[in-house]
Amino acid sequence: MDIDFRCTECGDCCRGFRLPLSIEEALSWLHDGNPVEVLCEAIPWVDEPPLTNFVATFKRERSFSGMSGALPIRVIVTLAAPLGSGCPNLSTDNQCKIYERRPRTCRTYPAEASRLIELVPQSRRCPPEAWQPGGQPLMRQGTYVGSKLIALVQDKLTQSVNDAPLLSSLRQALGVHRTALSNEVALGQYGAKCARRLESGLTHCPIWPFARLSGCTKGLTADTF
Ligand code: SF4
Ligand code: SF4
Repeated sequence: MDIDFRCTECGDCCRGFRLPLSIEEALSWLHDGNPVEVLCEAIPWVDEPPLTNFVATFKRERSFSGMSGALPIRVIVTLAAPLGSGCPNLSTDNQCKIYERRPRTCRTYPAEASRLIELVPQSRRCPPEAWQPGGQPLMRQGTYVGSKLIALVQDKLTQSVNDAPLLSSLRQALGVHRTALSNEVALGQYGAKCARRLESGLTHCPIWPFARLSGCTKGLTADTF
């Protein structure tokens, strides 16, 4: 598959969704005075998918296994910035105010989180005119174009896999044993002053019980693990 792409600078990838962050990026985000959410999702994992299932492989590498009653599950913990009506770093003329240190997801968009996951233009936030032939070559024969982009996508994947054990510890420290099934639930929001607590030890933040409680009242539906 060949895909051309030209960013229209519409800014739609900077508003209206949750921006996934690595732990390092989340700490930086908190230091800037912006909130970070802890998201937790349980995926039923009855049969081990084949290694050729790249989406499943991606999820497996970022998750830990558990049981919900008799149901085998895998649980993914993610840090994310709620962008709401606009990223706090988005200027009125749709420019990024932290361009040089923007998170990996911003650097690689609209590329997928793994180069092995098929890029479907319609699933991205970019308008149709961004995908017209004649733009910059983004993909040739199913492979992203450019060693820099390929390295960034791989780095993002590697970082999310490397972060998984610590995020699992965060979940444990929060005492979270229930979450939504195959969906995301906000477990808490943390202000800038909490960045130091996150850095200095994941088990001693006094607001965590509150964060857990406030999160748990917000759409908790499914699982124990
Ligand atoms: S950090 Fe910059 S590029 Fe990323 S969502 Fe915010 S404004 Fe957009
Ligand atoms: S949504 Fe797509 S076209 Fe619009 S600013 Fe983001 S990357 Fe560019």
